[in-house]
Amino acid sequence: MDAPDALIVGGGPVGLAAAIALRMRGGEVLVADRARPPIDKPCGEGLMPEGAAALRSLGVWSDCARASTPFFGIRFTEDGRHADGRFTDGQGAGIRRIELHRRLLDRAAEVGVTMRWNETVRLDRGGGAELDGRKVAARWLIGADGRESAVRRATGFAEVAQPARRAGVRRHFAIPAWSDLVEVHWHDDGQAVVTPLPSGEICVSAFANRPGPRFDDSIARHPELRRRLAGARPTSAVRGAISGSSSVTSVARGRVLLIGDAAGAVDAITGQGLSLGFRQAIALADALAAGDPARYQRAHRAFVQTARRMARLMLAAGARHAWRRRILDALGAYPRLFDHMLGIHTGTGALRNLPLGAIAGFCACVAAPGLFKAGSEAR
Ligand SMILES: Cc1cc2nc3c(=O)[nH]c(=O)nc-3n(C[C@H](O)[C@H](O)[C@H](O)COP(=O)(O)OP(=O)(O)OC[C@H]3O[C@@H](n4cnc5c(N)ncnc54)[C@H](O)[C@@H]3O)c2cc1C
Repeated sequence: MDAPDALIVGGGPVGLAAAIALRMRGGEVLVADRARPPIDKPCGEGLMPEGAAALRSLGVWSDCARASTPFFGIRFTEDGRHADGRFTDGQGAGIRRIELHRRLLDRAAEVGVTMRWNETVRLDRGGGAELDGRKVAARWLIGADGRESAVRRATGFAEVAQPARRAGVRRHFAIPAWSDLVEVHWHDDGQAVVTPLPSGEICVSAFANRPGPRFDDSIARHPELRRRLAGARPTSAVRGAISGSSSVTSVARGRVLLIGDAAGAVDAITGQGLSLGFRQAIALADALAAGDPARYQRAHRAFVQTARRMARLMLAAGARHAWRRRILDALGAYPRLFDHMLGIHTGTGALRNLPLGAIAGFCACVAAPGLFKAGSEAR
């Protein structure tokens, strides 16, 4: 296929989702990836409800649901304290990354996406693309080639300077999940996230504010989690990747569009990289079907804005032990407020619907911790 409607560079989860969405709207799509499928990648493997909804509209969800374990919200925890936020609309899914990729591959083949694996796309500054020594004259060039996107660099999209990068490592363990929530364990130097998976497994990812620490050293900072994992059999090797947010000034210029991590990543602590990418895939396909890439640019901005703010808020609020304790206690005292905030995070709730009384109570609990019992609100 030398002249498809769209050439997608990168057949990771977001590239494949975009290919499926474009193909479902009638486009001829060629996807090329330098890796061989199914592709695995360090990931916390939690898919938020809005990501599951996007997969539903791409016709991938029922297969993914069979290969996943549902989760119903997020637990923040430290030093025996915890606060639970529950999704009020939909449920999340814990799914091995490689299984997710398998399901996307099957669906892409089913709808007629042309896929080339183990082949690197070469790019020039003018947006020309070469695959296996042959020029590909695509109407649209889509960079779904991850955080270090070659498409973004070759075609001159400007990156926004970011604060220090964070590092993430993950490992799987053969131990049945002890919670139907994704757990986020906090510490001054980072977080550890536990995602329930099928077949008596969990995925544990550890994020550090500075690249460097080993997986075991990071887990040692979370005594409760370390106790849980004592004696549990690891079922995978430790793998790591750069986490942290990154952004670009635009994601659509002429015939070149960026999507997924290539279009700016959100810190993995949000658990939203995949979900944002799947939503972007649908918005991009709608925009190109309408011949209006600027529409995608607007949709992209709306999707990532909230996620970036949430990442900043979570990392700032979680930076100091004394504040974390107060916030955990206050969230624990106002669980429905936590549910609302989770709704805003996942795109099902709105800021204007936050209950003012609970916000006032929450703020009072944070400012004057002794009062929080008096303000307790049942879910
Ligand atoms: C430790 C960690 C934990 C995370 N946990 C979660 C989580 O729990 N939930 C969540 O939603 N998100 C999570 N994320 C984020 C999530 O993994 C990313 O947002 C997601 O992988 C982005 O997918 P993508 O398809 O855009 O990019 P990638 O998965 O990076 O795929 C890019 C693809 O492009 C290919 N490629 C690159 N250059 C070329 C080229 N020149 N030619 C051909 N192919 C090329 C690569 O081989 C690769 O397959 C986590 C991230 C980290 C680091």
